[in-house]
Amino acid sequence: MITLKGVFEITEKDGAGRIGKIFTKHGIIETPYFFPVVNIHVPVVSPADLKALGYNAFITNAYTIWRDEKLHELALERGIHGLFGDWNGPIMTDSGAYQLSVYGDVEVSNLEIIKFQHNIGVDIGVILDVPLYRGSIEERKRAIDETIKRANEAYESGFVVEDSEVIWVGPLHGNPITSLLRYSIENMLRYPFKMYALGSLVPYMEEYQIYQLIKSALFVKRNFPSNYPVHLFGVGHPMVFSFFVLLGFDTFDSALYALAAKDGRYLTVHGTYNIKYMEYFPCDCPVCSKFTPRELMEMSIHERQHYLAMHNLYVIMAEIRRIKQAIWEGTLWELIARRASSHPELARAYSLLLSGKLEIFEFFETYEPTFKRRGVLITRPEEINLPVVLRYRRRILERAFIWSDKLIITTPRGAHKLPAYLGAQVFILDDIFGFIPREIRNMYPLFQHMSYRSRIPNRVLQWTKRALETYFLDKFREIYVFDEKKEVAQKLKKILGFGEVYTGQDVGVLTSDHVRSLVTKAMLRFQFGPGAEDAVGKVRFEYSRNTGMLRKIYAADIKPYEEKIIRWELEDIIESKKKRGEEVPEDPYTELYVNRGKIWLLASIVAENFKLVPQPLLAYRLWKRFQDELRYSIILNNEAEPFVREGRSIFSKFIIDADTQIRASDEIMVLNEERKLIAIGRAIIGAKEMLEFKRGVAARNRYGISIDFD
Ligand SMILES: [Zn+2]
Repeated sequence: MITLKGVFEITEKDGAGRIGKIFTKHGIIETPYFFPVVNIHVPVVSPADLKALGYNAFITNAYTIWRDEKLHELALERGIHGLFGDWNGPIMTDSGAYQLSVYGDVEVSNLEIIKFQHNIGVDIGVILDVPLYRGSIEERKRAIDETIKRANEAYESGFVVEDSEVIWVGPLHGNPITSLLRYSIENMLRYPFKMYALGSLVPYMEEYQIYQLIKSALFVKRNFPSNYPVHLFGVGHPMVFSFFVLLGFDTFDSALYALAAKDGRYLTVHGTYNIKYMEYFPCDCPVCSKFTPRELMEMSIHERQHYLAMHNLYVIMAEIRRIKQAIWEGTLWELIARRASSHPELARAYSLLLSGKLEIFEFFETYEPTFKRRGVLITRPEEINLPVVLRYRRRILERAFIWSDKLIITTPRGAHKLPAYLGAQVFILDDIFGFIPREIRNMYPLFQHMSYRSRIPNRVLQWTKRALETYFLDKFREIYVFDEKKEVAQKLKKILGFGEVYTGQDVGVLTSDHVRSLVTKAMLRFQFGPGAEDAVGKVRFEYSRNTGMLRKIYAADIKPYEEKIIRWELEDIIESKKKRGEEVPEDPYTELYVNRGKIWLLASIVAENFKLVPQPLLAYRLWKRFQDELRYSIILNNEAEPFVREGRSIFSKFIIDADTQIRASDEIMVLNEERKLIAIGRAIIGAKEMLEFKRGVAARNRYGISIDFD
């Protein structure tokens, strides 16, 4: 495959969805984005209207301009931006493929329209592809072959090339036949398009065959690299955007907002209304605040169309912003759940995405962040298969930290009654996650979930029983079952088929120091995998004064050879104290380290998801522990090393290798080519994306490490 410099980068993620930036000649398009179709002959809304609604880019048809003699000349003379009141944002153009699909023929050739788009200075252009909605597989394949031939023509003639100024879009066809989609993807990826688009969708959209569309869209994204923006032609209903964004689609375009307005149709995120049958507007946009449905009905057709189009565009923009906020806070699946009740086709698609099918789970798992800013709300049965839930269930089998040969399995209610210092391991049963080792119950997504259920369904109990039998039972000599009510415990014992009812048998008692050490080890193993628990021994905790929650973990077992790190960190601390004009200790080593009992900060805890953020000492210990593997680490080429050691951002283009289990929001170690630790970072994107993207930040730099550890 040809390597690209890339015009696209990601800044936030949820599900397989992303907030990104497309860099064009006329500025940045923040994605997800909807391009309103502007028809130069029938201006329903003006460029100024679009701007007022928050749109900074639109799409128009290059073929329509090409065919109109006057406009053609004017466009060549002034550039396309000059045709739209000196619009200064990005303009995307379509090539006439739509006309081709409707009328069966266009007067322009592929190369002519490509050259025209290039000459009038469009920001994003499309080759003249051949959409085909019906016909035999052979006929459809012939259409795809023709599109591929035209892509090749655009490449050979020097337009679709790596350093083109126009972002050329490679259209993918074949929907709904997966073998054709695959054929189209494989062939179109051979050319250096900077953006791709899925086409041949309009009839499906018009017939509301949304389930089929989502299935095809999922297939495409499962078989596509992550580093391109991917567009959907002809998808313009706000009700469906969140689904496609969740799958990793970035941009949309459609004239629906204007066509619907012409027929008096009023778009909402829950579906479409006809204003003839509306008494009230369920919206507070400027149009709906000013007029009633009746008042709109009394207007002239043109006036009504304008106002309805304005409302429709307003609703679309609001939904796009809502989707972005959901990505940012990690609640995109919740938004999907709400949209799923808007239409049976969406409900069906929702069930498919959360069917628990392995290939679908694996797809989302690759992209889902590990930690999110907000918790998980479980409001429907399907959500037991949310990727974060299935990921937990897979991970806990090898990431549960076992430190005792005694186990107490308890109900959530029973867990409150069991003292913290018991010398037995405690697994808390859970209606979603099956079971939760007590030490990690505060970590995302365990504590941060709320469920509609009041009891643990049998299905989940059966999973727990099998998981315990297969992976854990042989590790315990004594197994107990506990609930406040003895009958409940007895019933549970019967369901599980193992254990004794716990009634206060002596399982030993631990000191609080010991408990803290075990909690730290368990959290480390859960976050960084087996073996990470070896990185800590004696620890001290610091709790938040406001909430009483764990905030910081200190090491109380520092080895002499680790003091090098402390001395280096002390220099930094003194430096920043000086900068702030604070008093500086005469002998920092004695005053800040020895006199404080030789303890040193290992990790801080993120309040909203209980993630451990390793400080240099812990990063050093993890790095040493996993020196012969790439555990939660990435390797940068040496060109980037000095900048990263200074604390600058970590860019994808410098990444040579990455642990494949890294996901967005993971804390990672950054190594140079000699595998020396040079920084600690927070992943913005997952391992797959880190290796595929050629542009953008892959990880925030938390600490650049300026000394050499060994
Ligand atoms: Zn409105």
